Amino acid sequence: MATADLHRDLRSAVRDLCKAFPDSYWRDLDRVRAYPDAFVGALTEGGYLAALIPEEYGGHGLGIAEASVILEEINRSGGNAGACHAQMYTMGTLLRHGSEAQKRAFLPKIASGELRLQAFGVTEPTTGSDTTQLKTTATRKDGVYIVRGQKVWISRAEHSDLLLLVARTTPVDDVKKRTDGLSILLIDLRSAVGRGLTIRPIRTMMNHATTELFFDDLEVPTDALVGEEGQGFRYLLDGLNAERILIAAECVGDGRWFVDRATKYAKERVVFNRPIGQNQGVQFPIARAHVNVEAADLMRVRAAELFDRGEPCGAEANMAKLLAADASWEAANVAVQTHGGFGFAEDYDIERKFRETRLYQVAPISTNLILAYIAEHVLALPRSY
Ligand SMILES: Cc1cc2nc3c(=O)[nH]c(=O)nc-3n(C[C@H](O)[C@H](O)[C@H](O)COP(=O)(O)OP(=O)(O)OC[C@H]3O[C@@H](n4cnc5c(N)ncnc54)[C@H](O)[C@@H]3O)c2cc1C
Repeated sequence: MATADLHRDLRSAVRDLCKAFPDSYWRDLDRVRAYPDAFVGALTEGGYLAALIPEEYGGHGLGIAEASVILEEINRSGGNAGACHAQMYTMGTLLRHGSEAQKRAFLPKIASGELRLQAFGVTEPTTGSDTTQLKTTATRKDGVYIVRGQKVWISRAEHSDLLLLVARTTPVDDVKKRTDGLSILLIDLRSAVGRGLTIRPIRTMMNHATTELFFDDLEVPTDALVGEEGQGFRYLLDGLNAERILIAAECVGDGRWFVDRATKYAKERVVFNRPIGQNQGVQFPIARAHVNVEAADLMRVRAAELFDRGEPCGAEANMAKLLAADASWEAANVAVQTHGGFGFAEDYDIERKFRETRLYQVAPISTNLILAYIAEHVLALPRSY
């Protein structure tokens, strides 16, 4: 099937699925900060979360372009793909660097939905964006790894069977480069919780099911190691472009949703005997937000094309994430302003989506760190940190 047809069909199928989960579904969950189990179940059932898993392991063998269309449409429908997006990019680490035995054991079950791989444990409270300084250790002893340390902002851990954990297996003082000595472990959360792992939810300004994790001498079998010991940072970097492109697509979905809603309201709301959208002071910000969302989308499409051809796309993936996150945030602000007081009312969903899209200025990588990447790696300016 031609790519354009495939994308059109995919968009329309995801839109249909999302119709069963209207604004009120997400609003009610937001109020009580509950996980969208029914939605994630339907998405899994439909095979969408297995988009990137190769057919030989039970998935659809689609590209990042198609995966990004799925996530974009979820956000464009008023939903929040943040509840389940991680499976798409964490799975890539297992696919590219896992052993054949690990792939055979896990990927078909992830594809069918029997197992969820929704949690990715990188960030720590004391080191933040400075990933190579992370303090969680995994030490080999008597045929197991003993994991000690703490992670923060690890999302969906309570709704995932598996966690990809980044931990230090060689102390930073014993390695030549600080990027060496980090490893990735695939941890079965079902057996870990209560036996050395404690998960504590963190309540945030939006419904994101995020948590902190405490590892207190958790024993992990050595066959949980993904790839080679000490190479985890390289594997982590490998997955980041996929993550950036997928998040950019979600932001494009958010941006289009905000522009749609602002446009509709601006046409309907009559004040001073005219639709507010007749005033240039109201229509220009919406038009500008639309322009910026569409421009960001072009960079996201370009990054996805490069990624799917196996070509370098670090610069494009980072630029797509930055442009799309900025565009969705601008569109969110415009939507609130256009709605006047109603922009703040829960029943209009603008304030909910406003809170949700704000996250992407900070996570999974903050805007400053993207600018630092572009300055250093694209423009060859001196490293700033
Ligand atoms: C809701 C939510 C969900 C998340 N989910 C996950 C998850 O599932 N897994 C996971 O591992 N992490 C997750 N994160 C963590 C997220 O990736 C981090 O919050 C993010 O990378 C920033 O790290 P930090 O919060 O420690 O900020 P810090 O690193 O402390 O930075 C604070 C501020 O300082 C700026 N800053 C820092 N250093 C520099 C510099 N050198 N130059 C310029 N500016 C700088 C940053 O841009 C930022 O604005 C999540 C975070 C949130 C809020």
